[in-house]
Amino acid sequence: MNKRLYSPAVIREIQKKWGFQFQKSLGQNFLIDGNIVRAIVDAADIGEGDAVLEIGAGIGTLTEELALRGAEVFCVEIDEHLKPILDETLGQYPSVEIFYKDVLKTDLKSELESRFPDKKIKVVANLPYYVTTPIITHILDADIDLDSIYIMVQKEMATRMAASPGSKLYGSISVYLQMRGEVSISLHVPRTCFMPQPNVDSAVLAIRDVKDEYPETLRQAEAIVRAAFSKRRKTVLNALSTYGFAVEKEDIAGALEDAGIDPSRRAETISVEEYRILAKNFPKVTKEYSGDEG
Ligand code: SAM
Repeated sequence: MNKRLYSPAVIREIQKKWGFQFQKSLGQNFLIDGNIVRAIVDAADIGEGDAVLEIGAGIGTLTEELALRGAEVFCVEIDEHLKPILDETLGQYPSVEIFYKDVLKTDLKSELESRFPDKKIKVVANLPYYVTTPIITHILDADIDLDSIYIMVQKEMATRMAASPGSKLYGSISVYLQMRGEVSISLHVPRTCFMPQPNVDSAVLAIRDVKDEYPETLRQAEAIVRAAFSKRRKTVLNALSTYGFAVEKEDIAGALEDAGIDPSRRAETISVEEYRILAKNFPKVTKEYSGDEG
């Protein structure tokens, strides 16, 4: 195939040839703008020999651009109907491996370590929107040696993820991600860049300087942040003391004060750094982050 995969004509040709139907339930909105495809890979600073984890190959549009830059790509794709198509569109790139499985059921650490020993991983993906948060948490919790993450998500989701304290959009997901790295919006992508066209615009979210360790404090912080945002209108002391932790209210008040946080403040005014300090001062709790927003 000599035309590039982001051409709508090529996608229609592929659909016809293989009888391929877009599956809405799998978030199949494929990129049809070559400038955006190149801009994502530029932003992620992909070069020769980089080890890349991609999620969701589609017909291979982003994957091909990654391969053309010289990256070694391990791509997890759930839809086996795409196999004959991808065999054809990406067959010429020996540096690409498509792994047909639900990424949420994939042991990313062992798959990546066996293919890319001693390499830091760059994640680049146009994510299926129906499982954005679970996929991001799955990647971050997989204990992989991560370099950076560049992922296309819904614009509203990206704005929340990158939001700062004081903003209405600042919530548990903002703190959760910003505790792990530098979060920013790298690129705005209008809905017209996809086929079929979704009802919302998108953005590429960047998470850089990802912390490679996953200390106990982070787990602790996630539980506390979720509790704090579970009742946004209440004071942080009330939100934390009514959440169900087996910790006395006065001990919570003490931990807040030790962290320099006035107990009458609300969750959305507390910075990522303050949450980190609070987590260290807080009596031990164990609850995992499940992606709810609060
Ligand atoms: N990368 C292609 C592009 O940009 O044109 C396709 C992106 S499309 C938004 C998302 C892709 O993720 C689809 O190919 C879909 O089949 C795949 N996908 C959906 N859910 C998945 C899952 N749980 N695990 C792995 N891949 C998944």
